[in-house]
Amino acid sequence: MTRPTVAVIGGGWAGLAAAAALAESADVTLFEAGKVLGGRARSVSPADSGFDFLDNGQHLLVGAYHRILALLQRAGVAENDAFLRLPLTWYLADGIRFQAARLKAPWHLLAGIARGEHMGWRDKLDLLRQMQALQRWHRKAEADISVAEWLAAHKVDARWQQQFWQPLVWGALNTPLAQASTWRLGNVLADGVWRQREDSDMLIARRDLGESWVEPVAGLLRYLGVDIRCGHRVQQLHSGEHGVLVDGEVFHRVIVALAPYHVAALLPQAAAFNSLVYHAITTVYLRYAQPLPLPQPLVGFATGTAQWLIGRGALGGDAREVAAVISLSDQLPPYTSAQWAEAVHRDIQRLFPALPPPLAARTITEKRATVACTPGYTPPPQDALAAQHVYLAGDYLHPRYPATLEAAVQSGESAATLCLRSF
Ligand SMILES: Cc1cc2nc3c(=O)[nH]c(=O)nc-3n(C[C@H](O)[C@H](O)[C@H](O)COP(=O)(O)OP(=O)(O)OC[C@H]3O[C@@H](n4cnc5c(N)ncnc54)[C@H](O)[C@@H]3O)c2cc1C
Repeated sequence: MTRPTVAVIGGGWAGLAAAAALAESADVTLFEAGKVLGGRARSVSPADSGFDFLDNGQHLLVGAYHRILALLQRAGVAENDAFLRLPLTWYLADGIRFQAARLKAPWHLLAGIARGEHMGWRDKLDLLRQMQALQRWHRKAEADISVAEWLAAHKVDARWQQQFWQPLVWGALNTPLAQASTWRLGNVLADGVWRQREDSDMLIARRDLGESWVEPVAGLLRYLGVDIRCGHRVQQLHSGEHGVLVDGEVFHRVIVALAPYHVAALLPQAAAFNSLVYHAITTVYLRYAQPLPLPQPLVGFATGTAQWLIGRGALGGDAREVAAVISLSDQLPPYTSAQWAEAVHRDIQRLFPALPPPLAARTITEKRATVACTPGYTPPPQDALAAQHVYLAGDYLHPRYPATLEAAVQSGESAATLCLRSF
């Protein structure tokens, strides 16, 4: 019997995961429009910017991201080399601080918050009560509501919203509180914070995504015989009696692993995707003349422009470089690159008041970074496409999570399973 042929369209993390899951059972061709693989989690050339390396955005994983970590491990990535693994740490330069203890769940969180700083006993009990209330609400699986509604119903005051819930929701769901899904937030917390201590760990990449993540996975795919075609933007897809035509080449099955705004261009049946709402994420990289001894590898701000700072010194890199993450940057005025850099520099000066301006700055905004994670959002049905031997994969399809790398990888693997089952 000849092996089945499968085209995977899109070399982001959903496409990479799908190709890896298929490659031992099928002849796989991976089409990627860009010059490099990785999609919305890839390296960009630092060129002569003066930076050691640049990614399209600073990415962070948590221990609960089991499938992407398994894929990286399968590709030979040694976790200790690739990541700095930290216990769950909440360190606001202008607010509360706590770190999960090295104890079994739920004691890791209880002890961590009990030992927290810049909050009194009443505050600590308030935060624990709020988390417990969300756990109860989530277990009951009531009809989904926005996080803002949930916070109002549970009388969470403005201070706790600013010190905890807002940075958490912005970072995890990239959606404003008034629109963010409480149920999906509950899923993130249930799997990534409450269930198991190791799952709540935070993993920060030590090097650029291209070198430390994408290249090893591309190497694995090549080893498994996947035909990787970068720089090929698929223009046409037609299902026929004998298979699916991808730009005139016939395949038994096709996995379309594109961001939703690209799916609609290729599949007229998916025109409804054009109405999805997205939010932006901006990453500002600054390089100073001197090292920045940040108090933690990940430092947050409850107020200001930068929400999280990641210093490269703690990662074993150049201590003069720092990345600032601004989720929901579409909600801010349309700053120029220079204005972004100035605003983030002012935030960093709150930690180091005498710090002179940076020597170099680079701002990258991904306007459609992730699809809005709202109560009404349900992934589009795919049965009609499957009947035409076409399967969808992508971060926007996950039934429980917001659009994240883990959602992308899980969805790629699920599409591969459905595809293989159909033979
Ligand atoms: C700035 C930023 C920061 C983020 N931070 C985090 C984080 O900290 N943690 C986290 O878990 N997630 C984070 N995310 C989200 C995460 O990056 C995405 O969820 C994930 O990368 C999406 O992968 P995907 O494969 O579903 O889609 P994509 O990455 O969009 O992949 C689709 C691919 O298809 C290609 N393509 C498009 N059209 C065609 C065509 N016609 N033919 C061939 N190829 C085509 C594109 O070039 C792209 O490579 C962040 C995203 C951004 C933008």
